[in-house]
Order: sequence, then C-alpha cells, then structure tokens
Amino acid sequence: MSSKNGVPFRQKLVGAWNYGAKCPYAMDADSATIHETDNDASANNEVSYMIGNTDQVSYHVAIDENEAVQGIPFNRNTWNAGDGGSGHGNRKSISFEICRNYNQSQGTNITGTQLEQYKKAKANAIKVIAQIMLEQGIPANTSTVKSHYDRSGKNCPSKMRNDGQWIAFRDAVIKEYNRLKGGGSSSSGGMKPNPKPLKDGKIGDTVKVYNALYRDSLGAVKSTAKRGKQGKIKRIVGNSKKYLVEDWGWAHPNDIQLVKRASSGSTSKPSNSKTKTVTIDKLNVYTSQSLSSPIVKTASGYRILKKGTKVKVTATANNGQSVHGSKNWSEVDGWGWVPSVYLK
Ligand SMILES: [Zn+2]
Repeated sequence: MSSKNGVPFRQKLVGAWNYGAKCPYAMDADSATIHETDNDASANNEVSYMIGNTDQVSYHVAIDENEAVQGIPFNRNTWNAGDGGSGHGNRKSISFEICRNYNQSQGTNITGTQLEQYKKAKANAIKVIAQIMLEQGIPANTSTVKSHYDRSGKNCPSKMRNDGQWIAFRDAVIKEYNRLKGGGSSSSGGMKPNPKPLKDGKIGDTVKVYNALYRDSLGAVKSTAKRGKQGKIKRIVGNSKKYLVEDWGWAHPNDIQLVKRASSGSTSKPSNSKTKTVTIDKLNVYTSQSLSSPIVKTASGYRILKKGTKVKVTATANNGQSVHGSKNWSEVDGWGWVPSVYLK
C-alpha cells in the first residue's frame, strides 16, 4: 500500500474512454483547489461514482478518515471549480474533495461519530494536500492553496466556511508543506534540493540521476544506487514519479536533471491521437520500443491488451526493435509501447 505523508493512498484512475468528459486537457498545475463533498460517502465510493459516470464533473483526489483515493491523473485537468472552460481552478489546479461533511451546505449539523470521521478526514487532507503539492513542485502559499469559493464563489468547502475554519485549514496546509520541505519526509531525503528539477522532460532526453529512483511510479522502493549516472527517459506517466529512466526505475522531477534534449524526429506526438484496434490475442505493452524491455506493470499485474481492445496512439517512434520487418512502435493511452504492426 502506497501512502502520502502517512495517509494510505491509492489510485482508481478514470479509464481513457472517459477522458473526454472528465479530464479532456493536459495540465501543468500551479495551485490547489479544495472542496468538501456535502455528503456522507467514503473516498472510495466518491471516486467510483465520479469516474463511472459521464457528467462533466471531476476532481483529482478524495480524502476520508481512512485513506486518499486518486481518480484523475495529475497531468490532466478536472471540472471542479465552476470557473469555466478556461478557468484557473479547472485548468491549472489539482482538486481535492474532503469527504464526510455530510449535508453541511444545507446547514445540517453533525455530532458524535460523524463529526469524528469528518475531523479525521480533514486532518488527513492537510497531510495529503501538502505532500502532493510538494511532489508536484507546487509551492504552498496563500496564492496557491485556494477554496472552491475563491475560484467561483460557491459556498464550498461548506462546513469549514460555515464554521469559520477555512483560513485556519489553508494555513495548516501551508505549514505542513513547509515542514515537509524543511526535511521531514520529503522526497529529497535530506539532500540539498535539486536546483534544476526536470519539469518538462520528454521521452529520449538524456538525464542525470540527482537523487533517488523508485521501483514504480507511485514511489515504492526507493534506491540511490544510480545517483550521478546518466541515462535516457523511456516513459512518462501521470504519477508523481513520472519519468522512467532506462529500466533502472522511476524519477520525480526533483530526482533528475536534464543533460541533453532528445534529438527530434525519432519520437513524435501525433497532432491528434488516433484510435486503433489490437489485432492479436494478447499484446504486451512495453516500457520502451523493444520486446526485451519490461512489460508495463499495473496495480494487479501486467498491462496486456486483448484482441479487439481500442487504444489511443499517444506517440509514435520509427526506430524501435524490428518486429515483422517494421521498426514502427506506438505508445498506447500514454501507458507504454507496442509494435505498430499489431494495431490496425
Ligand atoms: Zn466544491
């Protein structure tokens, strides 16, 4: 089980089929937007509901008294803030829903067990929001930690606002961020912060490992064995440790520095990604353009596509390992690479 600053954390990400409704735009966030759900659902149920319907309503992470659950990748936008199609909250912020405030927006008071659940959810949220802002390279301050109300005037987070607690909550997130940044359990592990984190890395870029690499993109199993070594970025995903360096491990932007940009031409993003269909019974998705590279891991095993699966080609390369005479490879759904000959 992964965790964020001591709070259990897991992903239950929306399928690519529903990106159009939930997170149509790529995003490089510079702030956070904070909400309360105004109901009694758990974080798990809240996210299941959100990713399973096609309403244009979405958020990145829900937090309850037990855990935090992520429903949308941090590099995609969400429709959370009510500030319009190009609003800052909707297009440039990571959005958080704090669960279990019950029906506070209609003035219902909560006591006893319900109040305890809410208080714990709120305490967990302070830890999780601070940690995610740190990991995503977003400084926490009064200009970046915003409420739904700040974005568009809705009475949300409603219980905090009704209780006069929003400013105290915001300041607690900033204080926790500063504590983490000052040493705590930050990803720099006591080292001097990387002066040149790589925020805009591309596949094929040569990078130097400044600090640690991780076995998976959620940050499991940290290793500093490759510190100082140079290698190439093989894959980029939406998690906090977003860059796969060679087959060594996954790096946060703070863990690597750019040495040399990829030469253009070998890998390209299609101007509009094409939907294709898998033509063989089982198609492994690889971490790079080679049959000997690792197969992409998922929460429950390996990413292997069945015949007939529809995928979006998110990048192409023309210099991969030759398969049936073709060196063309396709990146599918932003996950990893398959020989293009197995798609039609
Ligand atoms: Zn809200």
